[in-house]
Amino acid sequence: MPPTIAIVGRPNVGKSTLFNRLTGKRAALVSDVPGLTRDRREGEARIGGHAVRLIDTAGLEEAAPGSIAARMRAQSEAAIAGADLVLFVLDARDGVVPADAAFARMVRNWGRPAVLIANKCEGRAGSEGFYDAYRLGLGEPIAISAEHGEGLADLVAAMVGALGLQCVRKRKDEDAAEPNEKDGAAAAYPIRLAIVGRPNIGKSTLVNALLGEERMITGPEPGLTRDAVAIDFGWGGRPVRLIDTAGLRRKARVTESAEKLAAGDAVRAIRFAEVVVLVIDAEHPFEHQDLTIGALVAEEGRALVVAVNKWDLVADKPKRLNELRATSEEKLAQVAGVSLVAVSALAGLGLERLMREVVRSYEIWNRRVPTGDLNRWLGEALARHAAPAAKGRRVKVRFMTQASSRPPTFVAFCARAEALPRAYLRYLTNSLRQAFDLPGVPIRIKLRRGDNPFAPRRR
Ligand code: GDP
Repeated sequence: MPPTIAIVGRPNVGKSTLFNRLTGKRAALVSDVPGLTRDRREGEARIGGHAVRLIDTAGLEEAAPGSIAARMRAQSEAAIAGADLVLFVLDARDGVVPADAAFARMVRNWGRPAVLIANKCEGRAGSEGFYDAYRLGLGEPIAISAEHGEGLADLVAAMVGALGLQCVRKRKDEDAAEPNEKDGAAAAYPIRLAIVGRPNIGKSTLVNALLGEERMITGPEPGLTRDAVAIDFGWGGRPVRLIDTAGLRRKARVTESAEKLAAGDAVRAIRFAEVVVLVIDAEHPFEHQDLTIGALVAEEGRALVVAVNKWDLVADKPKRLNELRATSEEKLAQVAGVSLVAVSALAGLGLERLMREVVRSYEIWNRRVPTGDLNRWLGEALARHAAPAAKGRRVKVRFMTQASSRPPTFVAFCARAEALPRAYLRYLTNSLRQAFDLPGVPIRIKLRRGDNPFAPRRR
């Protein structure tokens, strides 16, 4: 079954034009299902060599002039729910209007991968709206003109990229199981959790201790190996979905090949997860393999919590904890401030705290920093340490905005972005982490050329 891509946005932003562009002549009106689907068009397209199914939600435009009528909303939600990827379209000439923000919220609530499209950017039109689009929290906008066929190569690249990710993040199978998602209630989503670590570190013991009796095994997850299972359980009223790729519920037999296999499983589990618990051994902490896995979690942009297991075997506990804290700050600097939780999986100790940190880390990972606060901080950070001069001229960061969360990702606009030293970017990242209390999650700052796109309106 080819991936399904839904085109979503308020009326008149150019959804149908884009649909026609992408499908060519293959579009067909869907008429077989009464009700919701009556108003939507469905067509096939090839995107970067892959067959895809496109859904256009434009059918209700006349029914909902200027507002999100209930039917349009239901229609869009249904399309998003069934989609592997959402193309969110806005009219860059209008900028972000309240209806765009409402639709964007809907897309974010469903948690589907999305590509943000600033349409009607032909010529030099729409540049204000293009920058404005960053505010929607759906990542970086792609400037296109569906009408004139401009920017489509960028769009296709973004779609292929997003679908690649999609292969492991597909959520289709969950729809029936999770009617609550329709309310957009974040708390109704299970936190996707992976428990990773070296062989014999105590992962299986920890998983079994966490699961206790309350569990439901939901069967194979798409995008994972056939014997991967998702285990749903609750912790303090919070649904959690544990991704078990390595057969953690079984006692692992460790042979060399099993070890190799487990490494591949860890990668898959990390990609699939939102929060990763890295289990390390209190007696032999932060070994090479532990750090490799920790770095991978950061690279993949996941929230991290470190479980320091076999704590029952540690003699001088306070001393060991201090050592561990210092070592983690040094060796896991990408996720500075990461929580270390001492546990004994065998004795079932420390599990409450571990899960509390998992939830906290998940919340930090989802956090959004208001643009005003961000730029006030930026002003102070720049005043404290100006960016060093490159070739006699200072590089000035003019403006920052948070482009997305999960993990927190920021865009910094500056002239001569390429000349900004990495060390300075690290300084900004650390300062930002402290200022907005974002410990234990990777933070991304992307540099873009240009001035503060909002400046003209603020004057
Ligand atoms: P996995 O390969 O990471 O899944 O590791 P296992 O869960 O199979 O555990 C490996 C060994 O460590 C087993 O003999 C466990 O009984 C032991 N173990 C696990 N957790 C603890 C703990 O908290 N304290 C102690 N002392 N031993 C533990």
